[in-house]
Amino acid sequence: MQYLQRQQHVRRWLEESSLDAFLVTSAANVRYLSGFGGEGYLVLAGQGAALCTDSRYTLEAEQLDVEDLGVIINSNGYVDGALQWLGDQNASRLAFEEHQVTYAQYAKLCQVLTSANLEPVSGVVEKLRIVKEDSEVALVRSAAAIVSQAVAELFADLEPGLTEREIAMELDQRMVRGGAEGPAFSTIAASGPNSALPHARPGGRRLSSGEMLKIDAGCWVDGYCSDLTRTIWVGDDPTEQFRTVYSAVLAAQEAALATVKAGVACAEVDRTARQVLTEAGFGDNFTHGLGHGVGLEVHEGPRLSSRSDQWLQSGMLVTVEPGVYISGWGGVRIEDLVLVTGDGCEILTDAPKIRY
Ligand code: ZN
Ligand code: ZN
Repeated sequence: MQYLQRQQHVRRWLEESSLDAFLVTSAANVRYLSGFGGEGYLVLAGQGAALCTDSRYTLEAEQLDVEDLGVIINSNGYVDGALQWLGDQNASRLAFEEHQVTYAQYAKLCQVLTSANLEPVSGVVEKLRIVKEDSEVALVRSAAAIVSQAVAELFADLEPGLTEREIAMELDQRMVRGGAEGPAFSTIAASGPNSALPHARPGGRRLSSGEMLKIDAGCWVDGYCSDLTRTIWVGDDPTEQFRTVYSAVLAAQEAALATVKAGVACAEVDRTARQVLTEAGFGDNFTHGLGHGVGLEVHEGPRLSSRSDQWLQSGMLVTVEPGVYISGWGGVRIEDLVLVTGDGCEILTDAPKIRY
């Protein structure tokens, strides 16, 4: 990982914005700039940077292999460590992440750094994270392979009678056995009518034959995530309505995947999927954006939605996940995670997609 280069990008931004120092509080951004995966802050100025944490993470912080990165272990906690470092910089203009700082932390900054002007900023590191380095793609590729295999195995062994919670737990265990650090988010297993909720929480409902099952899952590998959704029919004979809805969602996904390519507007990819579903009569049942970026966080830039003003670039990792949700009946979503390239995309989640 190119931590120094990433820090240099932030320094260039500091300079261009006439800012003296930056307090990074988002865990994903701290990890992106330093490789540190514990609890702590990163502080960065024109000269120098330091990771501030507490004694729980001493060993982990000392093992970081980042040139010129100071490590501050403060016995009063990492907030005090960061404040002390910033105070020593005599920064007159200090940037902080406005969406990541609580009011109490802000009040403390004001109280301690009395001579600094505090400048709220957003999206500075997130913008750098949108296009991935090869080493990041490799980790997401592993995470995608693990969830894909786990889902394929789960479906092969699936028994009616299991509760949604048991199915989710079963999948989580398979991902860990496959080499993941754990699930990247709460695994969704929604059966029958529960699948009509896009983000259903698994409950005590038992799976039976003759209904649908929607699984949305992902896992961590070295801090990087994957994200995959499959919907299947449990039992032999899918109903006509399931076949119709499923075929429409799959057609929408395939059409959208065919448009993914560097240089294409994110909104255009969303529009392609939406158009297929609208023509099939399900436009109003596709109630969310088509996809999102994936990296250190499950949901990050870019957004693939009708309101997005972003453009696809080579090295972006995005999901393509159209869905149709019908209250009282159920929902079908099919989601793949893809790497955007100069001439299209590469699908990283290779769990089989059944055709009904
Ligand atoms: Zn998902
Ligand atoms: Zn997703």
